[in-house]
Amino acid sequence: MVAKKQAVLMRTPEGLYCPAGDFHIDPLRPVKTAIISHAHSDHARAGHGHYHASESCIPLLKTRLNIEHYSEHGWGRPFKLGKATVSFHPAGHVLGSAQIRVTVNGEVWVFSGDYKRMPDASCEPFELVECDTFITEATFGLPVYRWEDPQTVFQQMADWLQENRKQGQHSLVLAYSLGKAQRVLANLQGKWDDIAWVHGSIHNINQDYMEQGIELLPTRHTQEWDKKEPPPPGQLIIAPPGAVAGTWVKRFTPCKMAGVSGWAAIRGIRRRQGYNRGFAVSDHADWPNLIRTIKETKAQKVWVTHGQSQLFARYIREELGIEADAWDSLYGGDEAEEQAT
Ligand SMILES: [Zn+2]
Ligand SMILES: [Zn+2]
Repeated sequence: MVAKKQAVLMRTPEGLYCPAGDFHIDPLRPVKTAIISHAHSDHARAGHGHYHASESCIPLLKTRLNIEHYSEHGWGRPFKLGKATVSFHPAGHVLGSAQIRVTVNGEVWVFSGDYKRMPDASCEPFELVECDTFITEATFGLPVYRWEDPQTVFQQMADWLQENRKQGQHSLVLAYSLGKAQRVLANLQGKWDDIAWVHGSIHNINQDYMEQGIELLPTRHTQEWDKKEPPPPGQLIIAPPGAVAGTWVKRFTPCKMAGVSGWAAIRGIRRRQGYNRGFAVSDHADWPNLIRTIKETKAQKVWVTHGQSQLFARYIREELGIEADAWDSLYGGDEAEEQAT
């Protein structure tokens, strides 16, 4: 009797699991051995026994989760876990973000994690990895999502900052604290001739980025903002979206507010969030790049997680003729601050 061939990766209540290597990828619940694609809170959680991540991800995991037991891995360097061979490959999403390649008995699976193909000076560029089975995210898996050249958008942001300054207004730019904020700071160099004030959560992550050689616009911590003798109007302040809810922002009046997110491409969403302006810069692949990546991996089977997974899987089956299914429940809701931007 022939034993049924086991899948290289499978879903379990703890998250994606590799039976041959006895490890989980981006697990939802505490496990013995966790492979972490990147340091965002919907992928990297506290409480695992041992962490495996890329060299540039580990410092961020230490800052965010205080991890003690870990192994750091260089890009493209294979290592063994049980009967599985694992390697990390840049995903281009945020600093240290990885696609995870898993090989068992010659069969190659790649878990994309979150990824983008647009250039980003604040992280390693995406590397294409051919595979038999590709597990892709699809946060922006609808044809309406097509990103403009980020350089154009960052120039528009710089022009908006100047305009606000001329009008005697501060500019409050809302960008999640790991990745997007640093991408803004890297791209405003040479475009904004002043410092940026940053929220504490961004300040901490900036240190990790700079220690790894990422160049950012000079910043000051907002706790140095003197409420009695505030700086002149026209300052640039960068904070995570969650910070606007409290009284913290009151000190920056009068100000104009802008969101920096893929969702800003859709006007209705921008209006609901109460921003004066939205800059559609995303750390996720847009529709054309999702399709392009799936084709380029030459995968014969695609699993879709995150976002519009059912619709997107159907499109892959019907339009690309590649076997595809949705893995809806692999991740939780949209509660994480940085998710889906
Ligand atoms: Zn992410
Ligand atoms: Zn994610």
